[in-house]
Amino acid sequence: MYRTKNCGELRLSDVNQTVTLAGWVQRIRKMGGMTFVDLRDRYGITQLAFNQEINAPVFEEANRLGREYVIQAVGRVEERYSKNANMPTGDIEINVSELHVLNEAATPPFTIENDTDGGDDIRMKYRYLDLRRQCVRQNLELRHKMAFEVRRYLDEQGFLEVETPVLVNSTPEGARDFVVPSRMNPGQFYALPQSPQTLKQLLMVSGFDRYFQIVKCFRDEDLRADRQPEFTQIDCEMSFVEQEDVLNMFEGMSRHLFKVIKGIDLPKLPRMTWADAMKYYGSDKPDTRFDMRFVELMDVLQGHGFSVFDNAAYIGGICAKGAASYTRKQLDELTDFVRRPQIGAKGLVYARIEADGTVKSSVDKFYTQDVLQSLKQAMNAQPGDLILILSGDDANKTRKQLCELRLEMGSRLGLRDKNQYACLWVIDFPMYEWSDEENRLMAMHHPFTSPKPEDIPLLDTDPAAVRANAYDMVINGVEVGGGSIRIHDANLQQKVFEILGFTPEQAQQKFGFLMNAFKYGAPPHGGLAYGLDRFVSLFAGLDSIRDCIAFPKNNQGRDVMLGAPGVIDQIQLDELQLRVDLKK
Ligand code: ASP
Repeated sequence: MYRTKNCGELRLSDVNQTVTLAGWVQRIRKMGGMTFVDLRDRYGITQLAFNQEINAPVFEEANRLGREYVIQAVGRVEERYSKNANMPTGDIEINVSELHVLNEAATPPFTIENDTDGGDDIRMKYRYLDLRRQCVRQNLELRHKMAFEVRRYLDEQGFLEVETPVLVNSTPEGARDFVVPSRMNPGQFYALPQSPQTLKQLLMVSGFDRYFQIVKCFRDEDLRADRQPEFTQIDCEMSFVEQEDVLNMFEGMSRHLFKVIKGIDLPKLPRMTWADAMKYYGSDKPDTRFDMRFVELMDVLQGHGFSVFDNAAYIGGICAKGAASYTRKQLDELTDFVRRPQIGAKGLVYARIEADGTVKSSVDKFYTQDVLQSLKQAMNAQPGDLILILSGDDANKTRKQLCELRLEMGSRLGLRDKNQYACLWVIDFPMYEWSDEENRLMAMHHPFTSPKPEDIPLLDTDPAAVRANAYDMVINGVEVGGGSIRIHDANLQQKVFEILGFTPEQAQQKFGFLMNAFKYGAPPHGGLAYGLDRFVSLFAGLDSIRDCIAFPKNNQGRDVMLGAPGVIDQIQLDELQLRVDLKK
């Protein structure tokens, strides 16, 4: 037997037992006639003690160990003289009588400690060593637990986990596909699924009623934000449901996860329309851990001779509680922040509410104290508050800029505590959004999303105004999940395709299999998908989803450990009848 106990389980009650442990050498401390080794495995760390007087040969062996050696030690559990209250095994140590080196180790390129000296790149190259660090492994343990609880909950609700294929055709999420050449069908390609959307809808046609799958999805997008080219969804679909049924079912799932994993009783989720989210937060995924809603200030601030505001299509403000004491330097930092090219505002106007209630603004020469008092009132600002105002000639763009400023102020004022969770549903998304690039309406969610029944007549007159039966679950400003009630009527589907600019032939060619299936008795259905990586990151309080993925890719979509992607052999190319001829 390699071991009788693991490195995390021994306690005072085990004293005097003889045990065998196996693991990695975390740290060696030589103190004259005593040497101490911290032995680590997945379960924890246990201190091994080697005493020269008691057992000189084993003591000598211990002194030859190096970091990350794999060893086996036999010894007696003893109470420690100086206990370590910070470790679960800190009351005991093993007085080692037998030591075996199972494998030597080269010196690792960075320290295997939570507080490691290794930078991002080196840790990714040696990810298998990085994964030895407790803080990294914990994230994967959490991931396992969450996936497990998702399965438990959905199973209890009668969902069946069904695997769908990975070698498919283009699926409709609107990103670029990863493609795989087919050897048996030269010149033809599979696409990896951006989601199992069409397949899960077909499962509803098949009568599966409640489906889920924890599944890899692939999207070949630019990886600017916190994205991975392959990521994991908790993908779900239900038959004979309306939006309300789906929201309740998955609110239940979130409540279950919060309860069993975080010990948090999630209150009933508030719902916010997409229109309100944009109006008050400038985002379809508002961070509602703090208020600081936008107030539109056109009425208050236009028409007083300040041309920047007078010519603006939108003027909006936020009120930062207690920030009137911001120094010139801090205000300059904020101005620089909104002017960064990623944000792109031209400038920032501020107004402080003094202790006596008067308002001092950066544009005082254009505004009387009376007007500034109405500003204060409109913002519901109190003495000590700081009002920050942005304006612009494109209302949506300006709202987005104000959203960034709001989040920045939230962070600066400590209002975005990672241990605080604010969850909500954002509902009533528009069906379509205009794409300047493609010069046409695009599906905001995907083309199988059904319009709200009361908006169907608008499809003919004002499609841009049609709202969809689509919803997102948002936690702390992160879209963790989203879905919709689907169209199950072939004629309505046809019409939606038309508005998206597909000719009937194109629609037939791309999604004919689904439309044909709908002719054979499709039940009303709907569903959603959660991003598992994002959900886990939120629960773990991580800044990046990479930290909860065992082998993530970097910003160039590369796995630097595997060296993927890489070139392939000529033989493989020949079999595929492909020639690589890169266009410059
Ligand atoms: N397939 C959708 C997505 O990946 C989710 C859904 O509508 O169920 O976003």
